[in-house]
Formats: sequence, C-alpha cells, structure tokens
Amino acid sequence: MDLGIQGKWALVGGASKGLGLGCAQALVAEGVNVVIMARGADALAQAAQALAAEAKHGAQVLQVAADITTPQGREQAFAAQADYDIVVTNAGGPPPGDFRDWDRDAWIKAVDANMLTPIELIKATVDGMAARGYGRIVNITSSAVKAPIDILGLSNGARSGLTGFVAGVARTTKLASNNVTINNLLPGAFDTDRLRGTLVGASKKTGQSVEAVADSRRKNIPAQRFGNAQEFGAICAFLCSMHAGYITGQNILADGGAYPGTY
Ligand code: NAP
Repeated sequence: MDLGIQGKWALVGGASKGLGLGCAQALVAEGVNVVIMARGADALAQAAQALAAEAKHGAQVLQVAADITTPQGREQAFAAQADYDIVVTNAGGPPPGDFRDWDRDAWIKAVDANMLTPIELIKATVDGMAARGYGRIVNITSSAVKAPIDILGLSNGARSGLTGFVAGVARTTKLASNNVTINNLLPGAFDTDRLRGTLVGASKKTGQSVEAVADSRRKNIPAQRFGNAQEFGAICAFLCSMHAGYITGQNILADGGAYPGTY
C-alpha cells in the first residue's frame, strides 16, 4: 500500500533508538523527510546514518541533538525545519518508584516531559497543518494509560493528562475538517533498551535471572512475546498516512492482547 506521504516532513522525538527510531524507519521507507531528535549525539548520528541508508525516494534525514522537553530543544527542531506535516511526540518515560518518594520537582519533570512537551509541539504545528490541509500528530504514550501500573504513577498521571487534552483538541472542527489528526499510540511491552532496563531492575529486586523475569512477562501476554520497534513503526506510519484521515482522537493500543478489557 502506498501511504501517500512521500516528500512530507516529519519531526520524530526520542529517535536514536527504540520506538522513536522504529517510527522514523517506517517513515523514511515511505520517502518522508525526517528530523530526528535525542540528547545523546553519538547514538543519534549512528541512527541518522542508518536511516539515510534505508531512506527511499531521496528522503532527507536531519538530526538535532537536544532535549525535546526544553523550549531551547524545541526551538532547535523548528530551526532545522519550520513546517512539519507529521509530528511523532516521544521522549523517555519517567522513572518507576513509590509515590511517597516523589516531590513536586519529580512531578513537574514528568508532566513537562510526558504531557506539556507534546502539548507544546501540538500548539506549535497544528494551525500551520490546518492551513496547508494535511497534518498528523502521533503521541507515543503507554498502555499504562488504560491499565495503570502502580510503580509507574508518574507516567500514569502525566500521560493521562495528555490523553484528556488530546481527546478535546483532536475533535475541534478547525483541525478535523482540515485533515489534521491527533492520535495516541499506546505501547505495551516492546523489546527496547527501556524494557530491558526494567527487566534488569526486576531481576535485581527478585533475585531471578533477567531471562526468567522476561519469560514470566512474556507468559502474561497472549501473543507470548514482546513487540518490536519495526511493527510499532509500521502502525505509526499508517496513522501518519493519507489513508488515516478519518481516525482522530483515538488511543491505539499495541500490546499483543495484554489489556484484558472489551473496550
Ligand atoms: P528507549 O529505548 O529508552 O528510547 C528512548 C529514546 O528517546 C532514545 O533515543 C533517547 O535518547 C530519547 N530521549 C529520551 N529522553 C529524551 C529527551 N528528553 N529529549 C530527546 N530525546 C530523548 O525507550 P522506548 O522503549 O523506545 O520508549 C519510548 C517511549 O515509550 C517512552 O516514553 C516509554 O516510557 C514509552 N513506553 C515504552 C514501552 C516499552 O515497552 N518499550 C512501554 C510503554 C511505554 P537520549 O537518551 O540520548 O536522549
């Protein structure tokens, strides 16, 4: 299927590895020009090189080594390319812990990264997208929005705030009637550095081997496996495609069947 997005410009946050990189890979394979962001310049440069090698139809790959959760980092993203047709919002998730230990600073950091940063990026781009008649925002959030995980309270809280905001703004006539969609893509367990870090943490806590912890997590997923960044990227690219113009304000779960609810 031709996704119909060749030549468009996309900003992809948190894209030197993991899910963000998977999204950037799927986009460059469709001939989309990408600006990828991450803080670590070396890994970002490697990712940019790999993406340039995979890019189709002469798609450009630009890199901005900066923190997307800061106003200065976002300014750099817009200095690299002023008008985006596609924005994939993504940054690292907040740390796990006990809510008793989180002070105001911990909460502000989580809200800044996982709620206010996507909102700032939406604010900076959607009116231009509407004027040009094409726009796709995909926010990478978490299955924890639908099925909260106790130790991830910072993520549950901050991402739920974003989800509520998106539910309203995506349905505004000015955006929806001008072919601008805003959706959230909710990963369950995907095999990335972040997941591997969580498994190592659980292994240290329980004394089980990392493989034993991973096995027991896989057994709780109906698909009996973790997801991979490529399949996540393919869903993202479809949501960014011309075919997905009638999907907006949705929370799309990719979790191998782990969420046990009907709705
Ligand atoms: P990952 O493998 O750790 O990759 C995170 C990427 O984001 C890296 O490229 C990282 O590079 C970049 N990044 C982190 N903070 C950033 C910042 N402030 N500004 C710019 N770039 C930043 O993580 P992932 O598994 O792909 O997860 C992506 C998102 O999905 C996270 O929010 C995570 O919480 C969420 N999620 C993941 C899973 C899963 O199973 N993997 C499940 C649920 C939710 P630098 O560190 O160099 O900046």
